[in-house]
Amino acid sequence: MATINSSSLTLDTHFFADVCSNFDYAAQFTKHDAGLLDQIKSCNSVYRFRFPIRRGNGFEVIDAWRVEHSHHQSPTKGGIRYSEMVNEDEVMALAALMTYKCAIVNVPFGGAKGGIKINPKNYTVQELENITRRYTVELIKKNFIGPSIDVPAPDYGSGEREMSWIADTYATMNPGQLDAMGAVTGKPIALHGIQGRREATGRGVAIAARECVSVAEDMQKIGLTPGISGKKVIVQGLGNVGYYSAKFLAEFGALIVGLCEFEGAIYNEDGLDVEAVFQHRKATGSILGYPGAKKEFKNTLEGLEQPCDILVPAALENQLTVSNIRNIKAKVIVEGANGPTSPEAETIFYQMGGLVVPDMYANAGGVTVSYFEWLKNLSHVAFGRINRRFEENSNLNLVNMVEGITGLALTPLQRATIVKGASELELVNSGLEDTMIRSYHEIREVYKSNEKIDGLRTAALVGVINKIAVSYQNLGIWP
Ligand code: GLU
Repeated sequence: MATINSSSLTLDTHFFADVCSNFDYAAQFTKHDAGLLDQIKSCNSVYRFRFPIRRGNGFEVIDAWRVEHSHHQSPTKGGIRYSEMVNEDEVMALAALMTYKCAIVNVPFGGAKGGIKINPKNYTVQELENITRRYTVELIKKNFIGPSIDVPAPDYGSGEREMSWIADTYATMNPGQLDAMGAVTGKPIALHGIQGRREATGRGVAIAARECVSVAEDMQKIGLTPGISGKKVIVQGLGNVGYYSAKFLAEFGALIVGLCEFEGAIYNEDGLDVEAVFQHRKATGSILGYPGAKKEFKNTLEGLEQPCDILVPAALENQLTVSNIRNIKAKVIVEGANGPTSPEAETIFYQMGGLVVPDMYANAGGVTVSYFEWLKNLSHVAFGRINRRFEENSNLNLVNMVEGITGLALTPLQRATIVKGASELELVNSGLEDTMIRSYHEIREVYKSNEKIDGLRTAALVGVINKIAVSYQNLGIWP
């Protein structure tokens, strides 16, 4: 994810409380025993540890965490955040959100999250490798990692490189374990990763936004015309999630009018070229100074307040609060980041006539494709490998037969389009799209079922609580 200024987060210890308050609010729309609700919302295991690494002529002690929020399904799943701002409260909140997002998209995992309290920019690649490998060993020592136990993935500040170090360390420490590669997801393709994982969270966010604005009845209520085409969008964050969210939203026909990063924000009501802005930032180190921008703001938060239809905060938590929500012009907020809107700000936004597509659904594309990667690792075969040629041959037979019977002759392009068997990337993208669309309507159904349910987040949580309650009942833990 992107690197948005989060200095306000240093002393912030209410993220987990915010997640719990959303949970408690939703729980009133269910009929479960108070003890069961408490079990669902609590963090089951919080492992806090410290380890030394060699640095310069001395040593440095690193603070780290792994939180497994819920074991109602195994393994638990969630990324590892590398950030100076990481604290226990944040990791607990993010682990809880992982439980909820897995349940929403019907991924059979419990939620977890990891944190390493460092700013990766201040460390050499060698030091980062040492830290990551040592972190993995600490998890192995306490049985906090494994394909059937707890499966990490990338998060803010980590990526494919870190996941390959984790995979290698885990495999080295577990010689002969057939499924060792399933101990971590988000790995590079060359190291048993899966096509489409890198883009998955952003692609999922874009699909979530498109699905939300396609429902005519809901758009009418908030004063927008249905359809993604031409919708003005502001995206905060040009990291993995924000960049791909903006890219796919533009591909779906939306107009990206604003982009915000920690150093500032740019705006052009006629649209910005996402790739050109990305390249400009890569070359100059800043989003500011992009020649295609009509307005520039030194403060990222000012960028969020510009005119648009859809706002996608895809950076860090706590960006939309009581202090700025009233200035937001967007009608729809699609949460690419985890926890970008405080509960109070969300209430005000609904009073303003807006709609929030919640994080636990909107950014669940990443874990959905992580699930596909884990399945690939356990089955030891790439998706499409066994059936692709068979499908192509069957399609070819069908086309030849139809042409023979009807006398029609397809163009080479038409023929190729019909005949082609699905690649791994196509299967992953189609599975992701199906998951995002189905889950949106599952949430919406709950929202519509009770007029007292105040928004999509509460509706999503009501669905989550009911699903997890069934798991506990099936485990025989609760009647
Ligand atoms: N860190 C990502 C998230 O917050 C991905 C988690 C995963 O793939 O396990 O959803």
